[in-house]
Amino acid sequence: MPHTEDILHGRYAVVSCHVERPLDDEAWARFSDLQRRRPGRFAIAALMRPPAEGEDELLWLERAREAQARGPFGLHTHWTAPDHARPTGGDPAALVREQGRWLTSVGLEPRFFCGGGWYLDANVAEAVADLGYTDCTATAFRPGYLAADAPHLELDEPTWLELPSGRHLLEVPTTHSIGMLARGLWGPFRRAVVHAYFHDTDLLDGRRRAALRVGLAFLGLKRTSLDLGDLQRGLRPEKTMSFANSRA
Ligand SMILES: [Zn+2]
Repeated sequence: MPHTEDILHGRYAVVSCHVERPLDDEAWARFSDLQRRRPGRFAIAALMRPPAEGEDELLWLERAREAQARGPFGLHTHWTAPDHARPTGGDPAALVREQGRWLTSVGLEPRFFCGGGWYLDANVAEAVADLGYTDCTATAFRPGYLAADAPHLELDEPTWLELPSGRHLLEVPTTHSIGMLARGLWGPFRRAVVHAYFHDTDLLDGRRRAALRVGLAFLGLKRTSLDLGDLQRGLRPEKTMSFANSRA
């Protein structure tokens, strides 16, 4: 485990997967296999979408426990539907609190949060802080599908978010898709921490699977592999930004 100063001045990488369809047998088998094999020596974090109404809760739990035993574990909220990530109304923070409470009630110990469709507002951030998670919803890139005024937090580096309540939430932004790595799109090399992500559904596609293998191997060669848990324990960013007025 490197010291904080090493993390801040070193060249590290972490990898997470948005596990959106954990009940799809093929997607799950492929994700499990990858998490077990640790390509590039990465302990891939499983950021899992909780079961929706009508989905098999017992099977979900069994799989979530397996994922949690293999690497860092977190919550990935899809607000509107399994295939519609961003909220379309209601109280987005309330669902995050409800899902967090449920995960704890069934004995799971999530430590991370990533909002579906990269959605984060100040109230959601407060809920994430209440749950004691580290947030990974900010991105270093602007997702192409977002409208110009859609709530979204763009950050290059791990940062403390100062919330309306005055608390500080650790933000470890997602910096690269695996496709970006495979295409050699690194962006600024000065970045201390590369946080690459992919979707479990990417594993259903042979070409994306191949790109993922290349991307992770490349990342493992270029950077020292850490996992999100290492960052959560050791990282104390120098930067703080106010998130009080970020809600669009
Ligand atoms: Zn998602």
